[in-house]
Amino acid sequence: MTRFAPNSQLETHEVTNQPPPFAGHNLFDSDLALRDAALREGGAWVGAPLSALGAEAGSEAVLELGDLANRHPPELVTFDRYGRRVDEARFHPAYHQLMGVAMDHGIHDIAWRTEGPGGHVAHAAKLALLTEAEAGVLCPISMTYAAVPALRHQPDVTQPWLDAVIGGTYDAPLAPIAGKRGVTIGMAMTEKQGGSDVRANTTRAFPLETGGRLYRLVGHKWFCSAPMSDGFLTLAYTDKGLSCFLVPRIAPDGTRNGIQVMRLKDKLGNRSNASSEIEYHDAVAWLLGEEGKGVSVIIDMVHHTRLDTMAGTLGIMRRPLAEAVNHVTGRRVFQKTLADQPAMRSVIADLALEYEAAAVMTMRVARAFEGQGEGDRAFARLAVALGKYWLTKRCPNFVYECMECHGGVGYVEETPLPRYFRESPLNAIWEGSGNVIALDVLRTLHREPGALEAYWAEIGRHGGKHGTVVEFAARLHERLGRPLGESDARRLVEDMALLLQAVLLVEHAPEAVSDAFVDSRLGGRWGRCFGTLPAEADIDAIVRRQIEPLAG
Ligand SMILES: Cc1cc2nc3c(=O)[nH]c(=O)nc-3n(C[C@H](O)[C@H](O)[C@H](O)COP(=O)(O)OP(=O)(O)OC[C@H]3O[C@@H](n4cnc5c(N)ncnc54)[C@H](O)[C@@H]3O)c2cc1C
Repeated sequence: MTRFAPNSQLETHEVTNQPPPFAGHNLFDSDLALRDAALREGGAWVGAPLSALGAEAGSEAVLELGDLANRHPPELVTFDRYGRRVDEARFHPAYHQLMGVAMDHGIHDIAWRTEGPGGHVAHAAKLALLTEAEAGVLCPISMTYAAVPALRHQPDVTQPWLDAVIGGTYDAPLAPIAGKRGVTIGMAMTEKQGGSDVRANTTRAFPLETGGRLYRLVGHKWFCSAPMSDGFLTLAYTDKGLSCFLVPRIAPDGTRNGIQVMRLKDKLGNRSNASSEIEYHDAVAWLLGEEGKGVSVIIDMVHHTRLDTMAGTLGIMRRPLAEAVNHVTGRRVFQKTLADQPAMRSVIADLALEYEAAAVMTMRVARAFEGQGEGDRAFARLAVALGKYWLTKRCPNFVYECMECHGGVGYVEETPLPRYFRESPLNAIWEGSGNVIALDVLRTLHREPGALEAYWAEIGRHGGKHGTVVEFAARLHERLGRPLGESDARRLVEDMALLLQAVLLVEHAPEAVSDAFVDSRLGGRWGRCFGTLPAEADIDAIVRRQIEPLAG
C-alpha cells in the first residue's frame, strides 16, 4: 500500500531536496551482493522464495510493523486481575504480525524441510532479509530453527515438538502443543553467576521417576529471551553433572509449568523482543541426551544460532546501507547530489565492500552447514566462529557511518538508523561474546586439526589468484605454525576471517570489489575510518553496484 503523497507546500516554505522514504524495494532483488551469493551457494531454486520475502519485507506495511513493534515494546503481566499468576509478556499486534511473516516464510524450518542443497543458505538469507524490517522477532525464530538438532538427540521424547516446529506456523496463545499449529522454542542457559562459564550454573534437576526422563527443576536463569516460547532448552545439574532439558510452558499434566518470569530486561536495543529473568519452581522437564552430557546437546543449538548471528548482522548492515544509498541519491548539497560528491562516493564504496564481504562469507558458511562430510562439518565449526567474531565486531561502526551519511536526520528516531545502531552490538555479545569466540577458535585449532585443514583447503581452492592474498596467506600460515597464546586470539581470528572474505571475493565478486577489498584490508592501503580506499580503487563501479538496483 502506497500512501497518498504528503503535502510539500507548507505555509512558510516548500519542502524540497528531501529524498523519498525508503520503501517498496524488493530487498532481495535490489541487493546484488546477497542475491549473487545466495544463488551461488544455495542453488537457483532459492531465488523465488527469497525474492518473495524480499518484496514483502521491503513493503511499506512491513517496514512500519518493525517500527511499531519497537515503539511499543512488550510488557510483563505477572498476575491476572484476581491475583493468579500468569507470567506472560504481552506484545503489540505488530510483533505478532511479524512473527507470522517469519513463520509463513519458513525462516524457522526451511533448512529442515529442504531435501538437497540450499536449505540453510535459504534460511540464513531469509533471516537477513526480515532483519531489514525488524531484528527483534528473529531471536525466537532463530532459536526455534536452532533447537531442531538438539531436539533430535532424544526423538522418543521430542518427536511431537519436532513435528510442531517443522511445518508449523505462528500460533501465539499459550496452549498444549498437541492443539497448536506450530510452536516456538527458546534457550535458557545464562545464570547470574556465570554465562560464558555455564559450568558455574547452580540450577538443579531432580528425577521424578526412577530411570525415566522426567525431572523437576529448581533454580533461575538470568537471561531468557522470548519467554513466551512454548518450550525452552535449558541446562541444570543432576548428580552426574550438567545436563540438558526441554522445559515446556505447559506441564505434561496440562497445568502451567512452574516457570516464573521475574522481570523483563530494559535493553539498549532489540526492544520488540522480550528478554526476561526467570525462576524454575519445580518446573517439570524432560532430560535430552545423557545425564552429565548436557553441554554436548545444547552446543548443537548454539552452533546454529551462531550462524544466525552472522545472518542477522548482514540484515543489520544492509538496511542502514540501503537507507544511506537512498539518502545520498536523493539529496543535493553544493550543486551536486551527495552520491556525486567524491568524498561521499568513497564512503559508500568502502561500506559496500564491507557489506559484500560479509554477504559472501555468510552464504558460504551457511552452505557448509549443509555438508554431510567431515571436512564440511569441520569447516563450518571453525568458519562460523570466525564469521561471528568478525562480522559482529565490524557492525556497530558500519551502522554509525551509514547514519552519518544521512546528516542530522539519521540521528532522529523517525528514521530506522538509531534503532539499527542500538541493535548493532548485540550479535557480538550473545551466543558467545568476542573473547569467548576467539578462544573457541584457538581451542578448535588445537583440538581439531581437521578444521584448520578444511580452512586451508578453502583458501587454497581460491587463493592463488591475487599476489597480495598469497602473501597474506603465507604470513598467516607461518604464524599458525608458531605457539599461540590466548592474547593472540583476537588478532588471529581477524586475519583468518579477512583472508576467507578476500578469497571468496576474488573468486566470486566483480574485480572492482575484490581488488579494492584486498588492497585496503589485506594490503594495508587503507585509513582508519570508512571512506579511505586507495586512489586506484574503481569507486564508480562499486557505487554503481549499489545505486542502480535500488533506482530500478
Ligand atoms: C539481549 C540479550 C538477550 C539474551 N538472551 C539470552 C537467552 O535467551 N538465553 C541465554 O541463555 N542467554 C541469553 N543472553 C545472555 C548472553 O548469552 C550472555 O550474556 C553472554 O553469553 C555472556 O555471558 P555473561 O553475561 O555471563 O558474561 P561473562 O561470561 O561474565 O563474560 C563477560 C566478558 O568476559 C569475557 N570472557 C569470558 N570468558 C573469558 C575468558 N576466559 N578470557 C577472557 N575473556 C573472557 C566475555 O567475552 C565477555 O566479554 C542474552 C543476552 C542479551 C544481552
